[in-house]
Amino acid sequence: MRIILLGAPGAGKGTVANLLSEYDRSVQISTGDILRAAVKEGTGLGKQAKEYMDRGDLVPDSLILRMMEERLQANDCKKGFILDGFPRTIPQAEELKTLLERLHLTLDLVVNLEVPKEVILDRLTTRRTCSNPDCQTIYNVKSNPPTRDGKCKVCGWPVIQRDDESEEAITNRLETYNEKTTPLIGFYQKEGLLKNIFSLNSKETVKNIKKALTAGK
Ligand code: ADP
Repeated sequence: MRIILLGAPGAGKGTVANLLSEYDRSVQISTGDILRAAVKEGTGLGKQAKEYMDRGDLVPDSLILRMMEERLQANDCKKGFILDGFPRTIPQAEELKTLLERLHLTLDLVVNLEVPKEVILDRLTTRRTCSNPDCQTIYNVKSNPPTRDGKCKVCGWPVIQRDDESEEAITNRLETYNEKTTPLIGFYQKEGLLKNIFSLNSKETVKNIKKALTAGK
């Protein structure tokens, strides 16, 4: 399958993409994960992207497009891909369209994950991450807390709130999503590719996406 997942930060794109990739071996491509790995490795891309990411701003289109043009032509994409976090702006969507035309590829579906705002806010503000760069286990202060003194259960390092998970950065990420990314819903509606899916449960959502794929939309 070749699909795009749209949805606010915290909507569960990563979890859904991961489940979908297990189902038919299409590769999950998360621009957020690629960028975080680049920051961790201290590459040129990582150094340029870090300050935008920490503030909850989008990384400039030119950087993202260069990175994705290369990624989408890698061998593992031949089996199909699930894009999680890209495109995120109209220029990115337009460039992706041109690139796919050049590669003679078509998209099967663009899924817009609809999740109530209260659920999104609750998920984002309760998330914590292990500060050990080689561990990075994710916790949730309500449903899956770290040890009582705030340490990682896997490696013992302190569990922290990531820079982009401060209240200020979260507010900024959500505003940026509304302003820059929601116009993509109309863009893909016009292309006849959009499917809105109300999503609270990732497994249920995956079932609905499979149904939409077999129905041809
Ligand atoms: P979330 O969807 O929770 O905001 P991601 O892991 O998808 O998180 O992305 C983390 C950060 O990486 C974003 O806040 C942004 O700074 C950057 N980023 C990821 N994908 C893109 C993209 N397609 N365009 C611009 N910036 C991006």
